[in-house]
Amino acid sequence: MTTQRTEKCPLCGCAVHVVTDSATGYQQGRTYTILECEGCLSSFSSPLEVSDEIYGQIYANVRNVPGYNRYFRYAQEILTRRRPLDYLMGQEESYWAVAHHLRKRREAGEKLNILELGCGMGYFTHALAQDGFTVTGVDISSHAVSWAREHYGPYYACTTLDELQARGDRYDAIIMNQLIEHLPDVHGFMADAVSLLSPGGEILITTPNKSAYPDTEWETDLPPVHLWWFGEEALKSLAQHHRCTISFIDFAPFYAAYLRPKFPPVPLVDRQPVFDAHWKLVISQPIPVVSPVRNVLERTGIMDFLRAVRSKFVTGNRWHGSRGPICAAVLRRTR
Ligand SMILES: [Zn+2]
Repeated sequence: MTTQRTEKCPLCGCAVHVVTDSATGYQQGRTYTILECEGCLSSFSSPLEVSDEIYGQIYANVRNVPGYNRYFRYAQEILTRRRPLDYLMGQEESYWAVAHHLRKRREAGEKLNILELGCGMGYFTHALAQDGFTVTGVDISSHAVSWAREHYGPYYACTTLDELQARGDRYDAIIMNQLIEHLPDVHGFMADAVSLLSPGGEILITTPNKSAYPDTEWETDLPPVHLWWFGEEALKSLAQHHRCTISFIDFAPFYAAYLRPKFPPVPLVDRQPVFDAHWKLVISQPIPVVSPVRNVLERTGIMDFLRAVRSKFVTGNRWHGSRGPICAAVLRRTR
């Protein structure tokens, strides 16, 4: 049963209905209402608000927080890799999509000034810099930015979009990797980002893809860490609102090269909070140690070869084609 709500979708202004009013929260003891828009088909949490504290707790426990622990591994791992960007491209769709797109623009002769927003520990910014790109990583967490500076180099800033704007900085590509689903005020943030684009500049957005899971309540991080769950329609609406054209990156080459098994969605009633009421981890999940044999196979490139061979033979239960669990959009300013 769906209940109509009097409020409107903050993204497109259309009517919304309630998906559930008792969604488990990221922290125990808090529940959220999930609303779904009948126009742009996005889902979002009510209330649409988050405190900085939750991210402080996530990063203080980053080695053991499910979903975030892999970021810590990437941050360490790229320091030992000869080609860190290739390494990250093999790990996740988001990195593959953005790097693939930027390399194509570079091959076409463009010289790009790149900004990564929400760079966190800074490993993707660093991998792009190592690949020869001119790039700045920005995050609101001073802790994350000092970690990045200390481990990778000086190309990071702990600053706001307002400050960048005031400095007159303009960028040919602005990366928002898995960022917009965290934002209470998506339009405000996007307006600021668009104003930082140089003529012909692009915003590269990756985000969990709702349309990969039809008829599912919420198959993404629990609110208020993820406040939104977008699909292609929602991103098209976002682009239109900010007078941008939009195109989507096709993941077919990525799925052909790397196995991505498809798991069935976990019903919201079976989801557990990540933290208890006192910020102790309910689910502590350390990253498994990589065996020495696998390590050698990975570093010599033999693993990539084995993956490519294996993917030729495995066809069932995997993502394929252009629509997967992640959506990657290129928004280009038209005025
Ligand atoms: Zn909407």
